[in-house]
Amino acid sequence: MVWRNLMESTQKLATRFILLLLLCVLGLSGFASPASAISYQTVNCVVAYDEAFEDRSWESYCYHPETLARVIVEDVSYRFSQEFRIYLRIVEFVMWEPYLPHVRPEDWIYCCIQQTGFRSCILTNVLIAFTGEDLPGAMGCADREKKAVIVEEFWTQTFGQHTDNILQHELGHLYDCDHHNEKDLDCNMNVYYKWIWAEWASFPIELLTENWCEVCEGIIMANRTTIGQTMTGSSGSRYRTIPIGAAI
Ligand SMILES: [Zn+2]
Ligand SMILES: [Zn+2]
Repeated sequence: MVWRNLMESTQKLATRFILLLLLCVLGLSGFASPASAISYQTVNCVVAYDEAFEDRSWESYCYHPETLARVIVEDVSYRFSQEFRIYLRIVEFVMWEPYLPHVRPEDWIYCCIQQTGFRSCILTNVLIAFTGEDLPGAMGCADREKKAVIVEEFWTQTFGQHTDNILQHELGHLYDCDHHNEKDLDCNMNVYYKWIWAEWASFPIELLTENWCEVCEGIIMANRTTIGQTMTGSSGSRYRTIPIGAAI
């Protein structure tokens, strides 16, 4: 009897000791690596589209133009979020109409800014203007100062949708990335023309890739907080606190 009691109390002591040890280990590990605060950027976007974009959406994709624009912006947002923790959030859709002729793509941006009354502020950080018209001499254009980009809807039989890559490229300019012109550089900011036999035409590499080179990655990462709002959250609650997941 005494022996059994002694055994039981020894077992209890051992159990308590193990529990205590576990608590100590957990406490120490928590002390050694506290929940790291992760910062991310939310960029509020006003999305404008013209009648030609609307026509193309219905005719080519059977999509409502806002759905097409949303799919493109979401796609590009995913790329920026994976690389830089930058999340594009659409806050408003508006229609605009380019009054032709506009000689330079920059004029098209100013036209859209005038019509929409866009001003980069805390609620609306960036203007993304889609057009179904052919931009003169370019497929997109960016105004770093005004935080506005214009993007032409462009599709080929061989590759499908290119508009997402054009948008990615123009947003890269807003973060101060410049062009490369290098034959084999796999970068969305590379404007080197590559011959595509299947299309019997040349395309700038920017249209063909969603990758960034290391230089551009460094530039965007360094400037990521210059646009939008910086949010922080612990690594554990990060995905619950990001509003963008639900918003787009
Ligand atoms: Zn460019
Ligand atoms: Zn690059």
